[in-house]
Amino acid sequence: MSRFLCEKYIPLDAYTPGEQPQDKKYIKLNTNESPYPPSAKTTEAARLEAEKLNLYSDPTAKVLKMKIAETYGVEYENVFVSNGSDEILEFFFMAFCSEREVAYPEISYGFYPVYAQLFNSVSTVIPLKNDFSVNYEDYKGINKNIVIANPNAPTGIALSKKQIEEILLSNPDNLVLIDEAYVDFGAESCTELIKKYKNLVVCMTFSKSRSLAGGRLGFCFADKAVIEDLEKIKYSTNPYNVNRMTQACGAACMEDNGYYMDNARKIIKTREYLTEEYRKLGFYVTDSRANFIFAKHSGIQGEEFYKELKENGILVRHFTKEKISDFVRISIGTEEEIKTLVEKTKEILSKRGLV
Ligand code: PMP
Repeated sequence: MSRFLCEKYIPLDAYTPGEQPQDKKYIKLNTNESPYPPSAKTTEAARLEAEKLNLYSDPTAKVLKMKIAETYGVEYENVFVSNGSDEILEFFFMAFCSEREVAYPEISYGFYPVYAQLFNSVSTVIPLKNDFSVNYEDYKGINKNIVIANPNAPTGIALSKKQIEEILLSNPDNLVLIDEAYVDFGAESCTELIKKYKNLVVCMTFSKSRSLAGGRLGFCFADKAVIEDLEKIKYSTNPYNVNRMTQACGAACMEDNGYYMDNARKIIKTREYLTEEYRKLGFYVTDSRANFIFAKHSGIQGEEFYKELKENGILVRHFTKEKISDFVRISIGTEEEIKTLVEKTKEILSKRGLV
């Protein structure tokens, strides 16, 4: 740290991203990326756009937003796009939660408390139930802004649209952001509720089901006035927040939606296979509706299991937070990668006499 850093940032606990090793080749199951490449149409769009990188991107991202609106059956004016959905979360906290109250689950996406701290929000951190699900009753009538990942991360457990509607109805004077980063893997989306509730923001990403984590593209749906507020923040920080190549890739992704939704279905199938195999091996595995599973075994510590898998060339995610330190989160890879994971897991457990 330099002596120049503003005092208010000195205590900031920054977000720690998952490992992105550049040296050795791992079976990489640690940051919930898609194991499938972008479609040919998507990469071709990036290549063509690369030739125009001397020119700024369209700050309104008109073509991309129109394609998203068309795919999701909403109006153009209800769409906002960003440099990864992390940026939407950032803008949301900056625009609506600065010096204000916000509630979110205790075990959830690690960026929420970071943004809350960055923008001086007053956080109410709500514990999960014993089965690791979000207790939606806790948010009813709480009278604060609310951020919930649905499905939640890293548990993968989802609330129903009806439960979220109850939260929305009982907090009419506050905004409710539903982070649907993983929704395409089997949860119910709240997108259509934006037509009914002016206090709803539904946030999504191209990083998971649309194979574009490295392109950095997020989007959200909300009432026109809320979108205008987010635009105001964008034009006050980074008007060209989505680069040319990414805008073109995103539009191509929407045209190739079938390819990406087929991949999501493959991932769901592989997740069900892994859940079943792990349960047979004695793991406790939550009911995940995401592109990862969250699992623990009474015979091996989460950190030890993570390290041993890493020695075997498989990278998964372990969190040190006490309540979940027994667990590992494993992103769903290709069928072949997951079969290798199951074999290596059997070896690790059998060395300890656990199978
Ligand atoms: N929300 C959740 C719940 C996530 O897990 C992630 C990915 N780490 C994000 C948002 C942000 O994803 P991105 O910025 O790549 O769109």
